[in-house]
Amino acid sequence: MKNWIKKDAKYIWHPYTQMKDCGELPPVFVKKAKGIRLYDENGKAYYDTISSWWCNIHGHNHPLIAEAIKNQLKVLDHVLFAGFTHKPAILLAEKLLGIAPKKLEKVFFSDNGSTAVEVAIKMSFQYWRNKGKKEKKLFVCLDRGYHGDTIGAMSVSGESLFNEIFKPLLFQSIKVHSPYCYRCPEGKEKSQCKTDCFKHLESIVKKQHGKISGIILEPLLMAAGGMIVYPLEYLIKASRLAREYNIHLLIDEIATGFGRTGKMFACNHGNISPDFLCLSKGMTSGTLPLGATLTTNDIYNAFYDDYDKRKTFFHGHTFTANPIACSAGMASLEIFEKEETLKKIQEVIPFFHTRLEEFRNLPFVGDVRSIGMVGAIELVKNKETKEPFGFSERIGYKIYKNGLKEGIILRPLGDIIYFFLPLCVSKTELEDILIKTGKVVNNLLKQYYI
Ligand SMILES: *Cc1c(COP(=O)(O)O)cnc(C)c1O
Repeated sequence: MKNWIKKDAKYIWHPYTQMKDCGELPPVFVKKAKGIRLYDENGKAYYDTISSWWCNIHGHNHPLIAEAIKNQLKVLDHVLFAGFTHKPAILLAEKLLGIAPKKLEKVFFSDNGSTAVEVAIKMSFQYWRNKGKKEKKLFVCLDRGYHGDTIGAMSVSGESLFNEIFKPLLFQSIKVHSPYCYRCPEGKEKSQCKTDCFKHLESIVKKQHGKISGIILEPLLMAAGGMIVYPLEYLIKASRLAREYNIHLLIDEIATGFGRTGKMFACNHGNISPDFLCLSKGMTSGTLPLGATLTTNDIYNAFYDDYDKRKTFFHGHTFTANPIACSAGMASLEIFEKEETLKKIQEVIPFFHTRLEEFRNLPFVGDVRSIGMVGAIELVKNKETKEPFGFSERIGYKIYKNGLKEGIILRPLGDIIYFFLPLCVSKTELEDILIKTGKVVNNLLKQYYI
């Protein structure tokens, strides 16, 4: 293992990583994986509680997905998707549209989450140009939202540690207060909440809708922003507002899609039917990169014209709709049916939420929140004032380090410990995960509270 780590340090630059940290804490050298566990070269197991960056769905190395990939590889590996098409893409598009909100009738494939978002932004923007409404070019977004790391996706994300340095490169967007209930922008308690914070979004749209192309939202869960779960009412109101003022609703289900919130899509909790639905992460159950932007026939038709009228959508990626990735996507959706995945998790979810709630009484826990297979514990220095731990204390990093020793991947977002569980997790595994988490967190934080 040491040898590999040495080579890694010599040749590789990892994402979202201060490489200097790797001197003290080298990356885990993962040799294999099965179900919810990763194994290093010594055979030590780690619970993959974050679904390998939120993309694994049915557990690692699911045999049916492996088989689908192998079979597809024997027939067609890859082909360009302009002027050519293939069965895996057609089947997957049909299947996706069958389960997606009903207004969505076309699929535009790409190859990751950020590009699925870029596509939605560019399509929305060009739609208004094609319709002769050039002034509609602004996007409204939440100040804690996250939509990816490319320039366009960063431009419609909230301002954060991740993107502040790139601010001079970003295009202008309108950021509104997020519905972050624990730190309510209206200073309210949960019991008095009437989604008053919605008025920020509402007043912007009322005033500026003539200049607005669309609203972009992560539905019900702002994931990278801190696993912030927000009321369905807010999402429903936003959807109505978009319709009322004739602006697009761009829903980013890259994190929430494919069962993570307990339903196939977070939109299904409130019968939301957006103009754009961005998908990626869970689409191939975390096996291969694939992205998709689903849209309506109304949008599609605004681009449908003679070539020389310049209404064409000039956008595409080399690996658009890669046949192997599409086959993996099909296999993943078939597993949902075969294994009745969504039905099975209905039993695990209440157990998970109840057990997670037990953390709330600890002296350093400010908030506990959950939706479906996602849960978060927000740590605070002071429960009364909700004062967070300082950046320099690196609480998250310490928890991560200690978690690895215990054989569990805890990769806090700042001071927010979270679980983003694959849908295959059993109650027994979950119990073990939460016991191990309790141990790690208690051991680390009790020193602050003696
Ligand atoms: C991860 C994520 C993205 C970006 O996806 P990538 O594949 O990492 O580019 C976009 N939106 C949301 C909500 C995400 O969680």
